[in-house]
Amino acid sequence: MMLMIPGPVQTRPETQAAMAQDIAPWDHGFRPTYARIRERVRAIAGGIAGEHVTLPLQGSGHFIMEAAMRSLVPVGAKILIPMNGAYADRMARLAREAGRAVVTLDLPNTRGARAEDIAPVLAADPAIGHVALVYSETGSGIVNDVPGIGRAVRQAGRRMLVDAVSAFGALPFNLAEHPECDALMFTSGKCLEGMPGIGFAVARMDAIRAGAGQAGSWCMDLADVLVHSERSGFGSIRFTPPVQVLAAFDVALDLFDAEGGQPARHARYRANADALYDGFVAMGIKPYVSKSEQGPIIVTVHQPSDPRFDFARFVEALKARGVLICNFWTTPEPTIRIGAIGALTPEDMQRALAVFRECLAEALPAAA
Ligand SMILES: *Cc1c(COP(=O)(O)O)cnc(C)c1O
Repeated sequence: MMLMIPGPVQTRPETQAAMAQDIAPWDHGFRPTYARIRERVRAIAGGIAGEHVTLPLQGSGHFIMEAAMRSLVPVGAKILIPMNGAYADRMARLAREAGRAVVTLDLPNTRGARAEDIAPVLAADPAIGHVALVYSETGSGIVNDVPGIGRAVRQAGRRMLVDAVSAFGALPFNLAEHPECDALMFTSGKCLEGMPGIGFAVARMDAIRAGAGQAGSWCMDLADVLVHSERSGFGSIRFTPPVQVLAAFDVALDLFDAEGGQPARHARYRANADALYDGFVAMGIKPYVSKSEQGPIIVTVHQPSDPRFDFARFVEALKARGVLICNFWTTPEPTIRIGAIGALTPEDMQRALAVFRECLAEALPAAA
């Protein structure tokens, strides 16, 4: 089966094999692995030792997003979220439910947010202390200009939090060049091609320390994760982690390095996404966003408007031929979204496109 979904992604056999063992998380055989993973992801983020720290948290991406929000943004403080997709909606909801004062900026959902969108809003409202945004919008495939927006946030003297869940490891970002960024959040199961089960915030230690006591939750308190690490060691974890997932993640990071790190992964995903985009256009299927706005992570296309097209049956037909895609959409209009990420190559994309063509011809036979 080819898993062409936004995550968890297709993984390599070496990564899968690392899970087939029993491990005690606090055992001295495992602690160095956990500590090493934290160093490795900080390095990928361009973090600086002594300034940035990797704070892991059990659970899916929303858990680390909420923990970062609670740990870095004071209760009741104003936080600006540019709204241009399903994952921005989710971030706004979790910030609101955590009692932070969300200021939304509505933008079109077919282009990335830019510094020019954000700067005037910050200038108009000095009470906004933080900007939180999604790097790669996993509903539509657009990419927000996080480095550019970061510069505008810095010029305005505000702080930034980035949901890099579907971007980290593929899209470039260097924390050392972005002192305004308090944290980047991501998970084990997307562009780093590990198994799902743990999230990471690579965060500024000063910002985490400044937020101590405000999380309103022990489990979600990243300041407490830092205190625990400093007291018990960076190989120690507060509560039982998905330990096999971490063992597999260490192998996934070896494969990431062997491939050539972020630039190589970005190039492969870009080639995958381009192959899909061009392939769908050739099939007469309309992409959701223009080619210039098409990011390398997710390709979203409109569903055929022909009334004979039955999306659920289409997804099952693809699956019967070995291609698994997402069976729901998160755009306002009915779309099909396909992941260009995971352990897949442009050759795999061509194989998948052939399957799409067959299933489309079956769903919509040409009038005889
Ligand atoms: C996958 C994803 C998340 C987290 O989703 P979970 O299901 O909680 O892992 C958050 N933000 C973005 C942009 C994502 O792609």
